[in-house]
Amino acid sequence: NKIVIAIDGYSGCGKSSTAKAVAKDLGYTYIDTGAMYRAATLHFLNNYLSSANPNDIAKGLKTLEISFHFNPETQLQEIYLNGLHVDDEIRTMRVSNKVSEIAAIPAIRSELVAQQQRLGKKKGVVMDGRDVGSVVFPDAELKVFMTADLNTRAERRQAELLEKGELVPLEEILENLSSRDRVDSTREVGPLIKVADALEVDTSNITFVEQVAQIVQKARE
Ligand code: C5P
Repeated sequence: NKIVIAIDGYSGCGKSSTAKAVAKDLGYTYIDTGAMYRAATLHFLNNYLSSANPNDIAKGLKTLEISFHFNPETQLQEIYLNGLHVDDEIRTMRVSNKVSEIAAIPAIRSELVAQQQRLGKKKGVVMDGRDVGSVVFPDAELKVFMTADLNTRAERRQAELLEKGELVPLEEILENLSSRDRVDSTREVGPLIKVADALEVDTSNITFVEQVAQIVQKARE
């Protein structure tokens, strides 16, 4: 019996790598909602659209087209913005520094939430983000809330960025993660919260394999 697994939590605590591995183990589809907010942000940046101007927001939403495609060569789900593969670009600091501001705009959230609900309709889905268990799929059969201490998260993120050729000082990453956590937790629409029925997984002191196994085991119960 296939279910929906919602994984929410703070920035940089390993949600997407965990969700990806859980999906692989269970033969499920992985959907990265953060990548969708990042693609929307890139779209606004590239088109000089202002997040403060309602006309710009409407214009941006009208021309925003996000899709996921499975790449059989890498076995990975890739995200496309208006026909272009943007996985690398959406994870640069340019986008990270702007994304929470864009993601706080109600019209943008309602559009992306509707798309996410369509993508997850057929079950057998692992979806990660900030409001998956609270807003997108409040009826998800399994909800997980991931945490990890800020320093651990920043060090992991720095290593990831370095692997992609972007050398970012730890200070800047710490600032980005904590400011996103603050904006994401305090916005009016779809704030990051731990819902009462979520299983809390603190990844500060467990291995990647352990955190994946914990969730997979719960999913099979
Ligand atoms: O998951 P990731 O860190 O890539 O998400 C980037 C940003 O997108 C978050 O900091 C948050 O502002 C926004 N986001 C959101 N709701 C989601 C997923 C991500 O607001 N469901």
